[in-house]
Amino acid sequence: MLDLKKDYHVHSNYNDHSPQELSIEKVTTYAEEINLKTLAITEHVRKSSDWIPRYLEEIDRIISSGIKITIISGFEAKILKDGTVDFPSEYEGFFLIASFHTIFRDKQEWLSALKSTITLPFVRVIGHLAPETSFDLTDNELIELSELLKSYDKTVEINAKYRRPPMKWLRIFKENNVNFHLGSDAHNLDEIGNFKSITNLIDFINK
Ligand SMILES: [Zn+2]
Ligand SMILES: [Zn+2]
Repeated sequence: MLDLKKDYHVHSNYNDHSPQELSIEKVTTYAEEINLKTLAITEHVRKSSDWIPRYLEEIDRIISSGIKITIISGFEAKILKDGTVDFPSEYEGFFLIASFHTIFRDKQEWLSALKSTITLPFVRVIGHLAPETSFDLTDNELIELSELLKSYDKTVEINAKYRRPPMKWLRIFKENNVNFHLGSDAHNLDEIGNFKSITNLIDFINK
């Protein structure tokens, strides 16, 4: 069952494309106000990111301030063409979403990068998973993917911003008992914990 009170994908003003007002403090206060139970702050990170210690300290400060909801310190990192993720290894162990953020065009290259990412032990979640416009996966490929996701204990995110994965993929993942959770992918305050855009996907999983 998907828990609508748990949002596992939220951004902050540590990236360069969210509003400055999206401070960690505002994000967590808002999440508490709307009665979320769990909030994962998952800022976009690269190997070259130099703000990570400040970011983690700021989250830690809020956790120790007595906030009543569960706050998870996390990151979202990009899946690279060689099947690794653009993530600094010293932070392995933190909650990590791996997502496609670049166009691959070649289906086999995409699929093999995805499979290799799924085998990485420090990746917890595959974010906003969906085919590109130039290709789709067959039922058998999706079944095989389900087995891989399960054997490496990965969660498939149901993403409100992109309304992904597509229903056909979800059907096969669900039939094969893949684990899911919700991520708003909020880049604004009022998007946090807001899953209205994916009511159909949530109802399908929870029925
Ligand atoms: Zn993303
Ligand atoms: Zn994101």
